[in-house]
Amino acid sequence: SVKPVTITITGAGGQIGYALLFRIAAGELLGPDTPVRLQLLEIPQGVRAAEGAALELQDCAFPLLAHVDVHDDAEAAFRGTNLGLLVGARPRTAGMERGDLLVANGGIFGPQGEAINAGAADDVRIVVVGNPANTNALIAAAHAPDVPADRFTALTRLDHNRALGQLATTVGTPVGEIRDVAIWGNHSATQFPDVSHATAGGQSVPALLAARLGGPDAAREWLVDHFIPRVAKRGAEIIEVRGSSSVASAASATIDHVHDWVLGTTNGWTSAAVVSDGSYDVPEGIVSSFPVESVDGAWRIVPGLELDAFARHRIAVSVAELEDERDAVRALGLL
Ligand code: NDP
Repeated sequence: SVKPVTITITGAGGQIGYALLFRIAAGELLGPDTPVRLQLLEIPQGVRAAEGAALELQDCAFPLLAHVDVHDDAEAAFRGTNLGLLVGARPRTAGMERGDLLVANGGIFGPQGEAINAGAADDVRIVVVGNPANTNALIAAAHAPDVPADRFTALTRLDHNRALGQLATTVGTPVGEIRDVAIWGNHSATQFPDVSHATAGGQSVPALLAARLGGPDAAREWLVDHFIPRVAKRGAEIIEVRGSSSVASAASATIDHVHDWVLGTTNGWTSAAVVSDGSYDVPEGIVSSFPVESVDGAWRIVPGLELDAFARHRIAVSVAELEDERDAVRALGLL
């Protein structure tokens, strides 16, 4: 029999946690042959909600679910873990200064990085979902000096999937036939959703857009004025329409990210925020989104893409924001 994979989920009593747990236990994260052990972490106020979810998991009688524990102590929750899904974070509330937000999250992700360093399995892989996700991942990585930095990532797959959804309706191609879209930079309003290398049903997306929308200028206008802001601000649109933030789509993207990281990408690239190796002039060490492929269980930044002046500018703006966040957490002593 296959040894269960141990998965730690933080903020497991929250909304995204609730949307994640049942899909993981059903086998959608690692496939139908891999049993899972779930180690749920919550702050004391969230423990009852996580315990309730654990009871429901038991009631689902998932054949792949080997065990569930609930913890309020990071060291216990990360002990022996192979996969860490870091969902719990301190959200920005009205009137909160950015410095306060960073300090609050430093207080969460610093100790979690230490706990990962102290007790996680040698093959541990981490994805940070809780915002500000890129910088929270940077903080966690900085507190885990014995874990290779490339094991720390942040989620931009939701932005990537949002971009696929928008393109599919505009180009009129099923989502599964669209390849090589990329999200660059920060998981924030400055992100750059890039379709310049994308194809739909084997045809160039920029050419298809020009044909549909009435020429290259109209296509460019649609990209700049509609597509990019709609993808970047989709979270706010969901809140407005639904009355609360995106939950199932955030959980689904988290599953996609980890699934592809562990099992490999099959349909061209995807996007993930990874520790920069200096590619594309993104300063080394920053956690930034890139087009990536997963090969042999590791993310590889897609090399050698040609970027026009517009793309280079948009990436530079988002990367400057990430550098600001890094400098702010460094000044606060959180790195
Ligand atoms: P959610 O489960 O809805 O969201 C959790 C985090 O995911 C938030 O930081 C949120 O950021 C982020 N997120 C990232 N992408 C998205 C997206 N596209 N849409 C929505 N959210 C996104 O929040 P809840 O308040 O329901 O749950 C959080 C739980 O975490 C609580 O139960 C709390 O007790 C727990 N917690 C646990 C900690 C721990 O385990 N140590 C520490 C802190 C909290 P944003 O706020 O920007 O929307």
